[in-house]
Amino acid sequence: MTLLEERWRGVLDNMAEAVRRAGRKEGSVRLVAVSKFHPASDIAELCRLGQKDFGENYIQEAREKQAELSDLDIRWHAIGPVQTNKAKDVAGRFSLLHTLDRVELARALVRRLPEGASQDVLIQVNVGEEPQKSGVHADELPALFEALLQDGLIAADGAGLHVRGFMCLPPRCGEGEEARPYFVMLRRLRDDMEKRFGLSLPELSMGMSGDYREAIEEGATLIRVGTDIFGPRPVKGQTLLGCR
Ligand SMILES: *Cc1c(COP(=O)(O)O)cnc(C)c1O
Repeated sequence: MTLLEERWRGVLDNMAEAVRRAGRKEGSVRLVAVSKFHPASDIAELCRLGQKDFGENYIQEAREKQAELSDLDIRWHAIGPVQTNKAKDVAGRFSLLHTLDRVELARALVRRLPEGASQDVLIQVNVGEEPQKSGVHADELPALFEALLQDGLIAADGAGLHVRGFMCLPPRCGEGEEARPYFVMLRRLRDDMEKRFGLSLPELSMGMSGDYREAIEEGATLIRVGTDIFGPRPVKGQTLLGCR
């Protein structure tokens, strides 16, 4: 077994254990392997072992890997901030966009979607209200939903954007218990918004290498794990992410 396979299996084991500990249903959490800055060959190796969901932060890097691995059956997740002028490189090209945080981007995505196509998205919430992070602040969330609904930018089904839930990147990522209150906060926000707008928002994308067990205990349905699977990233990546 390669080191990569060993690490990946280790994460799957820990996930399953956290799911059991939380009394949740087997298979209720999906692992998104975050492959930013790691080579396409690593993605191909894991894909052959059965890992199908991969997350990338930078659209350009993701598009290059998509082209290189086009013969593999991969669900690509866009998990980094997206500039409005990059909407054309995202719309219809990712299985899930985790980082919708403004009406302007929603409008650009809808405009760039192929005729009749849909795009699943999550709304990123800046749970720590950190100025350097993207995401909508919790208290602005109702206004964002109202604007999206009013402008006809989101739909429950059919063509257009489908909001499936929420994503967060808590402050001081990597320190398990420190992140837990933010995970709880995201879950409650989800429950509130479902009630308030009569929407179904089943997905919660939360938890990274340092805190995915806590995230699972608090209701994550998608965890985004990079380092614990692929090993450390080149320094560049860590600086850009602003954590660890
Ligand atoms: C890089 C990144 C991850 C993975 O972080 P690790 O600590 O390496 O597991 C998860 N989510 C987002 C948004 C990221 O940018």
